[in-house]
Amino acid sequence: MPIQTLNPYTNTVEKTFEPASAQEIETTLHHADNAFRAWRTTSFAHRAALMQRAGDELAGNQDHYARIISLEMGKPLNQSRGEINKCALVCHYYAQHAEEFLQDEDIQTSAVRSFISYEPMGTILAVMPWNFPFWQVFRFAAPALMAGNVGLLKHASNVPQCALAIQEVFEKAGFPKGCFQSLLIGSREVEQLIKDERVKAVTLTGSEGAGANVASVAGAQIKKTVLELGGSDAFIVLADADVEAVAQKAASARLINTGQSCIAAKRFILEKPIAEAFMAAFSKNMQEKRTGNPLEDEDIDYGPLARVDLAQELTEQVERSVAAGAKLYLKGGQPDPDSALFHPAILTDIKPGNPAYEEEFFGPVALVFVAEDAEDAVRIANDSPFGLGGSIWTRDIQRGQELARQVESGAVFVNAIVASDPALPFGGVKKSGYGRELSYLGIREFVNQKTIWVS
Ligand code: NDP
Repeated sequence: MPIQTLNPYTNTVEKTFEPASAQEIETTLHHADNAFRAWRTTSFAHRAALMQRAGDELAGNQDHYARIISLEMGKPLNQSRGEINKCALVCHYYAQHAEEFLQDEDIQTSAVRSFISYEPMGTILAVMPWNFPFWQVFRFAAPALMAGNVGLLKHASNVPQCALAIQEVFEKAGFPKGCFQSLLIGSREVEQLIKDERVKAVTLTGSEGAGANVASVAGAQIKKTVLELGGSDAFIVLADADVEAVAQKAASARLINTGQSCIAAKRFILEKPIAEAFMAAFSKNMQEKRTGNPLEDEDIDYGPLARVDLAQELTEQVERSVAAGAKLYLKGGQPDPDSALFHPAILTDIKPGNPAYEEEFFGPVALVFVAEDAEDAVRIANDSPFGLGGSIWTRDIQRGQELARQVESGAVFVNAIVASDPALPFGGVKKSGYGRELSYLGIREFVNQKTIWVS
């Protein structure tokens, strides 16, 4: 894939970048390694002051950074601004809490003193996707840098200006040279980076294929990985739910980021008694969502997909599902095969073995299932290769919590759309990956959890 900015709304190439040469890659690794030696000795207070400034830089220049996101991957501008704000939040969160999360932890044993010391590992490679091109990076970088590590970013090839702008944020905030660097390289160069002894661990957010590849190379080098991969989150609507209100939430949950979110609701599992009424309201809400030019039209709900090939792949998934027996309740789809635009669609009558039953649909296509009862709804929810998030909608909060424990996923929200929060762990089970980001658990992924024993 060429490294370039291609506006997916206008389908025009705005800027092309030369991939980094072997010499530039070597220099970058050298800077990272050098930076780590000094950075690891700095105090939490010093790191926090810089991280606070990185957050301020983002918050103070929200529109500037948001426009880069919208230009490169087509997110509506108001949503891009929201993404930048959230990045500022995660910087401020870890500036405030990192020291507390990584303080020595005394444990009573027969020793005079025994404790866990959380120590940085070194250069952490981040292989990141285009869907939340700032957020995915900052939720890695803020805890990693606060822990005393340094970051090396290989961003998706269609968001190079985001990659460079993120490096700039850290530079403007005063982080020393080499603490956070973006390398403009293709995915083929990742393997050699993982094998380099200066790279100590890898985090990847993206597809299953990319995750499996990176993890196997890292595994052969005995290097730790955190993988945040796909999801096919269930949105379970129980018979006692407020159908009209929940159907509105359902459309928003499916169309987050034009459907290109790992935690977007993808499978809508309806208890039989409310299924028909829900479908009518849901379909209406999906059709009422507005689209337009992400950079110019402020009042839109969804933009184009990030690339034409992603829209074509989604069309192909819908066609295969229909050929295997699924029905298009709402047609939606691409207005023409060379467009990245994809209007919201709904598929029903999906049986096990159908592509819509087994695969992630990374765009505005809702997959609908009817369940006999709540237990059947949970069974369907769990009959998926993925396990990232999920939500349950019911007036009975107690029952919602009990059912939440039965859903096989990294998170379940009762009566709320799944979202990430800096204070709460984020990650998946099954094919959605492993490891956790955010919260105190996230910052402890890339540290040496060292036992110190004193007799
Ligand atoms: P990829 O998983 O291919 O891309 C994500 C990142 O991984 C990019 O930086 C990419 O680089 C890199 N990458 C890809 N293959 C390899 C590899 N073999 N070794 C090392 N790095 C690699 O996502 P796509 O853009 O192709 O999207 C395809 C599908 O992935 C989506 O339809 C969706 O299902 C899923 N996805 C999930 C995301 C999530 O948030 N969980 C985010 C994005 C995609 P490069 O861009 O240079 O190829």
